[in-house]
Amino acid sequence: MKNVQSTTPSTTPSTTPAAAGSRRYNELKQMLLNRRRELQAQVQDKMRDVRATGEVTKLAEVFDAGESSEADIQEDIELALIQMKSETLSRVDDALTRLEQGTYGNCFDCGEEIAEKRLRALPFAVRCKDCEEARETAEQRERHLAARRGASSLFFDM
Ligand SMILES: [Zn+2]
Repeated sequence: MKNVQSTTPSTTPSTTPAAAGSRRYNELKQMLLNRRRELQAQVQDKMRDVRATGEVTKLAEVFDAGESSEADIQEDIELALIQMKSETLSRVDDALTRLEQGTYGNCFDCGEEIAEKRLRALPFAVRCKDCEEARETAEQRERHLAARRGASSLFFDM
């Protein structure tokens, strides 16, 4: 690859979070790409399973209709799992897009960088630990208040 940076000298704002090429950017990108590869492998594995189960189902139908409906349920579960994984996969893709745009990995509330450790555990975290905890505390308080207001709050829910 050619170095195209020479055409834009020192115009890259150093304040940009996870700027392309920075250590943090590379770490996060690697983390997301790994996750993506894992998910893709899992989806492909499951797809193979379902296809294999499909064959078995057809065979079972010949012998016992009862057996096959159980296999159908199993197949539905597998398909739901594939769907879930696919959705996570597209969230990883979203995160990669945001990373390219420099908006991934920063706290939604305070704008600070979310710790890499936290992102590894929760790649779709949108808040730093402090803000998330503050939010949870606020929500808990809100729930407490709502419970104390009791039945009257039901009207507001409608
Ligand atoms: Zn924050």
